[in-house]
Parts: sequence; C-alpha cells; structure tokens
Amino acid sequence: MALIVQKYGGSSVADAQKVMNVAKRIVREKDKGNDVVTVVSAQGDTTDHLIEMAKEINSHPSKREMDMLLSTGEQISISLLAMAVERLGYPVISLTGPQVGIKTSSVHSNARIISIDITRIKKELQKGKIIIVAGFQGVDENNDITTLGRGGSDTTAVALAAALKADFCEIYTDVDGVYTADPRLVPQASKLKYISYDEMLEMASLGARILHNRSVELAKKYRVPLVVKSSFGDNDGTYVKEVEKVEDKMVVTGVAHDTNVARIAVLGIKDKPGMAYKLFDLLAKNNIDVDVIIQSIGREEDKDISFTVSSSNLEKALELIKENLDYLEARGVKYRDNVAKVSIVGAGMVNNPGVAALMFEALAEANINIGMITTSEIKVSCLINEEDVEKAVKAIHDKFQLHKIHQ
Ligand code: ASP
Ligand code: MG
Repeated sequence: MALIVQKYGGSSVADAQKVMNVAKRIVREKDKGNDVVTVVSAQGDTTDHLIEMAKEINSHPSKREMDMLLSTGEQISISLLAMAVERLGYPVISLTGPQVGIKTSSVHSNARIISIDITRIKKELQKGKIIIVAGFQGVDENNDITTLGRGGSDTTAVALAAALKADFCEIYTDVDGVYTADPRLVPQASKLKYISYDEMLEMASLGARILHNRSVELAKKYRVPLVVKSSFGDNDGTYVKEVEKVEDKMVVTGVAHDTNVARIAVLGIKDKPGMAYKLFDLLAKNNIDVDVIIQSIGREEDKDISFTVSSSNLEKALELIKENLDYLEARGVKYRDNVAKVSIVGAGMVNNPGVAALMFEALAEANINIGMITTSEIKVSCLINEEDVEKAVKAIHDKFQLHKIHQ
C-alpha cells in the first residue's frame, strides 16, 4: 500500500461536474488500496475574483486581510470535493491549512512553510479516511492565516508529501505535462517525459507557470518524486526526478518566458564600496525579490546599477528607492515595465560553450534587441521588449530544434 499526495489545480475543480470527476479519480486510487491525501486549489478564477472584490473596496488593502479573504477560495473547494467523495460512499474529511498544522512565516501573501504537524492527518488516515487539504494556506505564530503566494497549492502538496514521506506526489493540472515551451506560443513544442529537479526549478522560476517554484525547491530538497499530469485524461505526464537519473542529458531542455518583469535603473550611484549592499539590502528588507543585476563600469565618480523585479513589485520598489535617494547617494531612478525575460534551460549546457551564442544568434536573426543577459550553469536569460516575446520564444525553440526532442 502506497501513500499518494495528489494536487488538483483550480481548473480541475472549476465546476460541480469537474469536482465529481476529481472525486472519482481520488476514490479510484483508494480502491487500489492506497492512502490518499489530496490538496486542492480554489475553483477556477475564484482567487482573481476575490482580488477584484477587495479592490472595489480598497485599492491598497493590508496583506493580512487579503490572506483572510483569499484563503476562503480553497475552503470552498475542499468542502465541495469532500461532499463529492461522500456522495461516492467513501469516508473523507476536509481540513484547512491551520487544521493540518501548516505553520508558516508571517510574510502575508508570500509566506513560507516552516513546519507541518502530521499528527492529525495520520490519525485520520488510520481511520481509513481520504483527506482533502486546502492548498495555498497556513497559519503563522500569531495564529493568523497566511497564504503562500499565487500558485502556492503546489507547494502545500509537495511539503505534505515530504512531511508524510509519501511514495509519490502527483500534480494534476489542465495541461498534460511540461513542454519544451509554452504550447500556446509554440504549438510544435514537445512534451517532456522527464526533467531534472534543477531544470524544473529554473523553468518554474523563469516563468513557466506550470509549477510553483518553491514546490520544486522542496521536491528537490526532500527528494519527493513528482509527476505533472492532466486531470482530464489518462496520459503519462512529466516526471521530475534526480539529474543523475536523467539519461542522455539534452543540451537545452526548454525555453521559458516571463512577462511579469520590470527593469529599474538606479543612476549616478557613488563609485565606492558598500553601495550595492545598501541598495539590495533595502530591497530585501522590504521583501522585494531582485533578479537580473547589472552594474555599469564606474565613470568619473559614479556608476549605474540596473536590475529587474516582478511587475507587481515595481511600484513598491520605485517608491522605496525614491524615498531613499539620499541614503543611497544616487542621482535618480528610471524604469521600464514593458520588458520580458526569455530563457533557455538545460542541464547539458555546462559543457557546451556555444549554447549561449546560438541563443543570441536566434534573437539576432529575429531582429530582437537584448537589454540584459544573465547566465548560470544551466540557464541563459535575456531581457527583451515585451512585444517581442512570442517571436523570441519561437525563434529560440526553432534554433535548438526542440520540436524534435526524443527522450
Ligand atoms: N488559489 C491560489 C491561486 O490562484 C493558489 C493556487 O491556485 O495554487 O493562486
Ligand atoms: Mg498552478
């Protein structure tokens, strides 16, 4: 008998019929003699609607109250799904994040899981019950409800799988796996049979919205065997596994893109030690994640530092920098929001020096200007104009012939 953690995304439980469909999948697993813990997201666009509702009342609501509101979406879906399982005649119980003992940090709207107390789940499993857990939520040390960031139900599922030492964590969604590029942009994209944790982590962090990046981080850390599958059919999905086991490493595994990016340039910073520290420490203390960073060579007495943040953090970052120009000893700040990041990811890149050049060639042939570049052992990212994204992803996908991937 195995212990399986499953996660169903919002589109998989969007209406009553889909909820029944998911319930049938859950009991099928139970019928095989397995224990099942199912994590579920809010139905369909519920979370977006809740955000709109909040904005009608207050354009800058506090994050604590937002978490209170947004966590209700998952509470609806767990109760409905539990009722659907009941209707099929199986013992079941739904539990919220706090009831499961998912303790998190206090960073509302982007909390991190600190610990999970599995006593309650174990007790219910011993009674033979199917467990349905609300994704995306937890509780902090003050007993306040927190949420884990958009898409955070994946992280709930992987964290539970790790805590329960589950045999498998299955992520059910509306696509049937991980592709070499977003199939909506590149219809010829190929589905991957497997991808390494590191590659998946890069893909997720670089904008492939298929898995919450922290869920992959956790899966890697605790070696949780993960599979991404469609909740609508019975196709094989994509396995996320250890890199050593990935046979015949491909040079490039996929192209990711992210339009939720903005570029900030802090101008005329004094060219002396400690300045970058001051700037990025200020941003970090305000929970603003920074991605690509470029510093110009010092000229005369000063230099410029450019970096990217997510579009959603742009306003906050600009405000903060403007308020602190004197402290930062900088002359001014400029920004652009209509930028995007395209990236290639692949564990086989390390030993292939020509890979970055090939990517730049693809962009050059498509007449796309590159604003910033960053590289790591397994990725190369370029900042480009947002309007060029589709063209860029297609050109790069073509250049590396990713439609021909065979695993
Ligand atoms: N319901 C949340 C969201 O829409 C969490 C999730 O779906 O994973 O972001
Ligand atoms: Mg998701």
